Amino acid sequence: MGKEKEKEGKRSVKKEKQAEPDITFYDRDLFEVPENGSPPYLKGYICKKCGQLDFPKPSMCPSCWGGDFEMVPLSRKGKLYSSAEIFIGQPGMNFPITIGYIDLPENLRIFAQLEGEGEGFTCDDEVEVMVGTIRTNRDGLPITSYKFKKVR
Ligand SMILES: [Zn+2]
Repeated sequence: MGKEKEKEGKRSVKKEKQAEPDITFYDRDLFEVPENGSPPYLKGYICKKCGQLDFPKPSMCPSCWGGDFEMVPLSRKGKLYSSAEIFIGQPGMNFPITIGYIDLPENLRIFAQLEGEGEGFTCDDEVEVMVGTIRTNRDGLPITSYKFKKVR
């Protein structure tokens, strides 16, 4: 590439608004990875008015329409209700991926990606929350979030 062309390229990049870097963590309202190295946990939200527990955080309580919540760490282990392998979805996902519903002792059913191939999972498996990559962002960097893995 000639120097003239290189200059032109730089100029046109400057004119465009610099795009913000894409996220690399999903999402602080859902998942906590303590910096002190203690185990990660999902964040449940208890309605301060009626006491209902929800995940993910609702904009208002589906039971009483209250808007004040207290965050509580959810159980790290649950039971796999069902799972499936999927082959198409958002860009940046590394297919096939395994997804599932996990029943927590708090009587919450969580949708999540599972770590490992679909064949490795059976209903009622004991699974545990972990930190994992769910896909890459538009800059090609991994997005970290919660996943569940089998307890061995
Ligand atoms: Zn409520």
